[in-house]
Amino acid sequence: MTPSPRGSPAWPFSGLDAPAESDLYKCVHCGFCLQACPTYVETGLETESPRGRIALMKAVNEGRVGISAAVSGHWDLCIQCRACESACPSGVPYGRLIEATMAEVEAQRKPSPLSRAAANLLLRRILPHQGRLAMAVSGLRLYRKLGLQWAVRKTRVLRLISKSLAEMELTAPEVPSRAFKAKGQIIPAVGEQRARVALLSGCVMPLVHGPQMDAVTRVLARNGCEVIVTAGQGCCGAIHSHVGDLETARNLARRNVDAFLGEPVDAVVVASAGCGSRMKEYAHLLEGDDEYSGRAKRLGGMVKDVHEFLANLSLVPPERALPYRVTYQDSCHLSHAQRITEAPRELLRAIPGLELVEMADSTRCCGAGGTYTITQREFSLRVLRSKMDNVRASGAEMLATANPGCVLQLQQGAAQFGPPVEVRYVTDLLDEAYGPEPRGASTSRRRKNNKRTTVNNNETNV
Ligand code: SF4
Ligand code: SF4
Repeated sequence: MTPSPRGSPAWPFSGLDAPAESDLYKCVHCGFCLQACPTYVETGLETESPRGRIALMKAVNEGRVGISAAVSGHWDLCIQCRACESACPSGVPYGRLIEATMAEVEAQRKPSPLSRAAANLLLRRILPHQGRLAMAVSGLRLYRKLGLQWAVRKTRVLRLISKSLAEMELTAPEVPSRAFKAKGQIIPAVGEQRARVALLSGCVMPLVHGPQMDAVTRVLARNGCEVIVTAGQGCCGAIHSHVGDLETARNLARRNVDAFLGEPVDAVVVASAGCGSRMKEYAHLLEGDDEYSGRAKRLGGMVKDVHEFLANLSLVPPERALPYRVTYQDSCHLSHAQRITEAPRELLRAIPGLELVEMADSTRCCGAGGTYTITQREFSLRVLRSKMDNVRASGAEMLATANPGCVLQLQQGAAQFGPPVEVRYVTDLLDEAYGPEPRGASTSRRRKNNKRTTVNNNETNV
């Protein structure tokens, strides 16, 4: 087949980030994934199913259709929750396929100058730089405090400028006054030291959920871990991968490889499911990079989700009873991308007095997913409403989950659709169940000598 020139209606996938044919043609169109897919369940349409989306990828790959707006619209509506991947008996790596497909779409999309500038500002100029992001978040706090948010919403002025800007404003989270900062601090283990870990701070989570990040460090310390909040780390690149900006994602991954492999630790612990999933797959992201591919693989092997890590370490039992009726929402990037479903439940069950009740379809997405809540707001709310119906039916008074995007989305669901449940991280509940720390236990210290040392290849992971 002779490919038609780029830009013509039938240009097949190409380039460094094109979906691999070995992945694409694994799909045998059996349809076992359909009922796992939230967009298929909501619409009943084949084109909004994993099988339909893969069929479109094949059609583009074979030059039968081009990447038109109509075609890419079906991929845009995919939440990238990867539920289809864990349901697929043929092992189709859908996450890799959609990531590569979105990179091709982004290369061909022609957004308006305003949208291009906004995306560039957010993804490349703000998110990768923690200081700039912190300033933007402080601006958001001020915006609320001065009553500007109330005025903007009342007058609906943003709708006159841009509908998507107005939608984005509606998703703006409450921001605590205290942020969590990665500055190389070390939090000592409480009691006998059982492990030494580095902690990913990330980009958005330390700013919008700073107190909850502090709780993660306390829980790890209570479990005998010395925690290093590695300086020089940054955004993991998950959001960039989601929207097809793999070049920025690769640059961010390289920075984290450099930062974390300088720490002689047993594991790199991640408290956000989306970030953990991205970092575990750095090897694939950097496979074409001779300098970094081997080190990216090594870092990926050291990354542990915090629930996975604590469950494997054997949890120090908390003693304080929490009389809460809790249901657990599986974050997609924990249950489908990392295949971890039991560990968070095991941790919740270890809390005395806590009653864990299961809701229907707990592994189905809540409608968050990178920038999905902004770019596909209507559909995101539709999926969220179904989720909240299941929460209501469970009779729980509290909803636990494992990812900042899910926490924010579910909080919005509770406020907009009910039931009025409190949404918490599993680690936050554990922290509460451990109670106040022993005197002086949490005193973190700054490293006197922040020089990097090379990690031993034979370092064992917990
Ligand atoms: S992705 Fe897997 S489950 Fe879905 S149709 Fe293809 S082979 Fe079947
Ligand atoms: S990633 Fe999620 S939304 Fe996308 S096709 Fe798979 S199951 Fe459906």
